[in-house]
Amino acid sequence: MNHEALRREMIATCNFMNDRGINQGTSGNLSVRVEEGFLITPSGVPYAEMVPEDIVTMHLDASHDGARKPSSEWRFHRDLMARKPEVGAVLHLHSRFCTSLSMLRRPIPAVHYMIAAAGGPTVPCVPYVTWGTQELADLIVAALQDRLACLLANHGMVAIGPDLRKAAWLAVEIEALAAQYWHAAQLGDPYILPDDEIARVIEKFKTYGQGGDETSLPTCC
Ligand code: 13P
Ligand code: ZN
Repeated sequence: MNHEALRREMIATCNFMNDRGINQGTSGNLSVRVEEGFLITPSGVPYAEMVPEDIVTMHLDASHDGARKPSSEWRFHRDLMARKPEVGAVLHLHSRFCTSLSMLRRPIPAVHYMIAAAGGPTVPCVPYVTWGTQELADLIVAALQDRLACLLANHGMVAIGPDLRKAAWLAVEIEALAAQYWHAAQLGDPYILPDDEIARVIEKFKTYGQGGDETSLPTCC
C-alpha cells in the first residue's frame, strides 16, 4: 500500500515541529505503524524538502522498500513497534529544553501535574550512547517500559503514542514541561509533587475532556 495520506501527515508533523521551533534541520525522526511494519522518515533529508515518496516503508525484520535510506535511528523505532503493540507512532526530537536537561543528564521530576501525560512521576533520562546504535535502542525500550516519553543524554528526547497526533501532542507537552522546569530552576529548587498525586492525576486524565477518543489523553501500557 502507498499510504499517501499518512506520508503527507508525517511531513506535516515534521514541519509543524520545525515551525514551532522544537526541532530543526535534519535532526529528529518519526515513524507510524502500518500493516507492512512502519513508515519512517528518511535519513538526512531536511524536512522542508521532504516529499511523500521520500518516506521509507520498513518491515519489522529491518528490511525496507524504495531508494531512500531509512532514518539512522530505525533500530529504536523498529524495536518499540515490535515490543509494544499499543504504540502507533514514535517521535524523536532534539528540542531545546529537553536536550538542555539531557546535557545535565537530569530526568524531569514531577514539577507540574502534566507529567502524568508521560505515564508516571518522572520523565527518565537514558544514559549516553552513540546515536543509531542497538545499545541506544535497548536503553530506550527499557526506559519506555512504563512511560510514554524519555530524554536521551546529550542528545534529545523520544515520545510515543497510539497515533501520530497523540505522540506529537505529548512531545509538545513534554518540551513545554522541560522549559517550565528549566525556568523555575533558575530561581531555586522547584517543589516536586508526590507520586500518589501523580497517580491520582493519571486516573483523572482518563475522564478528562469531552469524552471520546479524540480528547482522551494517551494511556500507557
Ligand atoms: P536521521 O536524519 O538519520 O533520522 O538522524 C537524525 C537524528 O536525530 C539521529 O539521532
Ligand atoms: Zn537524534
